[in-house]
Amino acid sequence: MRYAILSDIHSNLVAFQAVLEHLETVGPFDQIWCLGDVVGYGPAPNECIELLRSFGHVCIAGNHDWAAVDKLDISTFNPEAADAALWTSRELLPHNQAYLQSLPSTLVRGDFTMAHGSPRDPIWEYVLSTGSATMAFESFAGPYCLIGHSHIPLLFQLNQGGTVSRQRFAPDRPTRLDGGRWLLNPGSVGQPRDGDPRASYVLYDAGSGECRHFRIAYDIPATQAEMRRLHLPPPLADRLSYGW
Ligand code: ZN
Repeated sequence: MRYAILSDIHSNLVAFQAVLEHLETVGPFDQIWCLGDVVGYGPAPNECIELLRSFGHVCIAGNHDWAAVDKLDISTFNPEAADAALWTSRELLPHNQAYLQSLPSTLVRGDFTMAHGSPRDPIWEYVLSTGSATMAFESFAGPYCLIGHSHIPLLFQLNQGGTVSRQRFAPDRPTRLDGGRWLLNPGSVGQPRDGDPRASYVLYDAGSGECRHFRIAYDIPATQAEMRRLHLPPPLADRLSYGW
């Protein structure tokens, strides 16, 4: 079985379509595992939810998904994110609101726990440092945990002796899950924040245990033009050019 591990699509339909087109070139996959924030920031919330739901998939809730259906107080969002969350909640069709309402905050599939932020605090916590990863490793039972939220592709490994190592996911170089304990973040499809504006995702092959990380160029100006047409906050469109 092969799984496309996607996170933080953020209503960026053009980026999501580019990832799906790339997936066609690397062979069939069985299911999408989506780690939350399907919506928020971007211009196509309904289209992204409906495209995701056209595939076999599982999905967990992110903070922007909950904000869009009023399950979370947006007073902690920065002004642009809050504006976009309010816009998204007005745009969402009832069946897509119901879908976001239904998303669980964590899921377990085989050896994998999934949590948008962290297994300790699935909606809010960012896992960026070995310190936060160490606490995350204490908060799930199986060998592997998939996270999103930071929009930065990262791998953390729990070493024998209890130390945690942190590394970037290197594009196109497979990482083999070797039976140790790992925390993996595939990066963001729709709003990367590691200085590389290309869409980011991971393909996991359960047979070989290999995770392959890809960066996919997409038509960034097309998404930006749509955001401007819809009067979404300009900084949210600008940042797509920089991958930040
Ligand atoms: Zn996000």
